[in-house]
Amino acid sequence: MPPRKRQLPEIPPDLVDTVRVTPIDQIYNWARKRSMWPIFFGLACCAIEMVAAAAGRFDLSRFGMEIMRASPRQADLMMITGTVTKKMAPQVVRIYNQMPEPKYVLAMGACAISGGPFKEGYNVVSGVDKLIPVDVYVPGCPPRPEALLHGILSIHARAEQEHIGDLRWYRKGSEAPEIPVPEPGPDLVDWRLTEQIEALQQQPTE
Ligand code: SF4
Repeated sequence: MPPRKRQLPEIPPDLVDTVRVTPIDQIYNWARKRSMWPIFFGLACCAIEMVAAAAGRFDLSRFGMEIMRASPRQADLMMITGTVTKKMAPQVVRIYNQMPEPKYVLAMGACAISGGPFKEGYNVVSGVDKLIPVDVYVPGCPPRPEALLHGILSIHARAEQEHIGDLRWYRKGSEAPEIPVPEPGPDLVDWRLTEQIEALQQQPTE
């Protein structure tokens, strides 16, 4: 969304050197961008590159992100770093649902984006965006830490463009957002049908 132009109040000439006026959006977005907390969560080999990005050479702490949160309740960035297996998919969705809004998802590597080298595998989800909404994709197998940093900066740029008045998670009443229930893709088991599947399994075969 392009930055919205706002009419700011005029500052009297005698206060120009001491008073600054800025939209609340700017302060809010700046604070959020500079303290985005990733969840401590890795799925496969791409996670090693994420760890490298957090360590001394690439140094995520430059962006206020050095503490990876161990709880989804305290995190607002989920980096999907590796292969999403069908066994792991329910846990990925559950962690995403437990994170408070506003939250962002970064899909890192070919596996998270499309299934990668395991795309045709019987046990691999062909893209995590079949389960949860993804904001930024970082291609590669694995992407280098620099590429991950570029993806993170793209999420920062996105957070910088938001307006408090437009954000769905601040709406109240009937406009309040519902907790998303992701639709599994056609090649996935639909866990909502587990009871029916189990009932079918109990039926005697002829
Ligand atoms: S994209 Fe490549 S490096 Fe990353 S998890 Fe998949 S196989 Fe491993």
